[in-house]
Amino acid sequence: MSILSRKLSAVKPSQTKAMTTLAESLRAEGKSIITLSQGEPDFDTPAWINQAAIEAIHAGHTRYTAVAGITALREAIVGKFKRENGLAFSVDQVTVGCGAKQLLYNALVATLDEGDEVIFPTPCWVSYPEMVKLAGGTPIAVPARAENGFIMSPDELRAELNAKTKWLMLNSPSNPTGAVYSQRDLEALADVLRDFPDVWILSDDIYEHLVYGDVEFATLAAVAPDLAARTLTVNGVSKAYAMTGWRVGYAGGPLELIKAMNTVQGQSTSHTCSISQHAAVEALNGDQSFLDDFREAFRKRRDLVVGLVNAIPGLSCDTPDGAFYVFADCRALLHKVTPAGEALESDMDVAMYLMEEAGVAVVPGSGFLADGFIRISYAASAAELSTACSAIHAAVNKLT
Ligand code: PMP
Ligand code: GLU
Repeated sequence: MSILSRKLSAVKPSQTKAMTTLAESLRAEGKSIITLSQGEPDFDTPAWINQAAIEAIHAGHTRYTAVAGITALREAIVGKFKRENGLAFSVDQVTVGCGAKQLLYNALVATLDEGDEVIFPTPCWVSYPEMVKLAGGTPIAVPARAENGFIMSPDELRAELNAKTKWLMLNSPSNPTGAVYSQRDLEALADVLRDFPDVWILSDDIYEHLVYGDVEFATLAAVAPDLAARTLTVNGVSKAYAMTGWRVGYAGGPLELIKAMNTVQGQSTSHTCSISQHAAVEALNGDQSFLDDFREAFRKRRDLVVGLVNAIPGLSCDTPDGAFYVFADCRALLHKVTPAGEALESDMDVAMYLMEEAGVAVVPGSGFLADGFIRISYAASAAELSTACSAIHAAVNKLT
């Protein structure tokens, strides 16, 4: 008999992590691989944020902290939500975890009973359905249409809401599509949610600062203040401040929920690293002007990759409004045959072929519950992106 629980048997490993691990092991064997499979900025954490961490070590901030995070960080988060989102929270209504990832998990574990449904538009981040299953709930995917820019419509949402729905998970800008819900899109969804007063909303705003051109970021609790009493807003320093490895995420929401999430955390990981928390205080309270430079660098890379990908026969993509991913349609490559005589029957086959033949790691769309696509992260240098796209182009040209 297997040692594994029934619950875990239904949970798939993260595809973003799997492709990145495979790329690392091929590199260790001496192969040259460009990793465009993991969504993390390639910039260094700004020096003054690093300095705050070094000072925290020297000041002896190396012990356990409060489960919800040090007060200075929670105050900085309250300040951030007020300044950037117009959201008012008390210090007790915010909490800190090991990345936004853990806060999403804590929220689901704290609230789901067997049979509870959690709905989310797809394509969605790889971890949403699996976390829901780990927490004992049932994931319900609502396919958002490519023709609609991968934005879920109010009617598509309404069709899936029912008495079993506990949460709607929203992620804008979206991983993997880069779709950004406008204020108007969110108002339309809020109108539907008003008819379902028992449904809670989880707004994953981790890519908030990565929106390009005239596109404006909007978040549900600010757009529909009457729904704030049943909205959890999750964010973190990973993507905005190039701090993925520090593992600091945060959330703001109703006190009862935040307390329950703290109970989950207090009985599992306790809190994120004390030193990282001090660095995050500096990130949130310090100079923010460099965010514009990061954003501009990402915008240039997005335009570069969109141009190069659309020049590859069999691949096509729209220009995403946010995040740092291009979600390319690869359906025209399916059933083509590799030089080794193998037919590409799925987006996974395409991703594996690109890994082996082009030396480029991307993530198959099926990991995001969207077959027939590949996700290319453009959080890499322009030189690497150009080399990677040329190698993909050459590999695709070898298919017959
Ligand atoms: N949400 C989405 C949509 C993401 O892409 C990520 C990236 N890992 C996260 C949450 C979690 O980020 P982190 O745990 O690094 O804060
Ligand atoms: N969110 C990033 C991604 O999708 C980081 C990896 C992960 O946590 O899944 O690539």
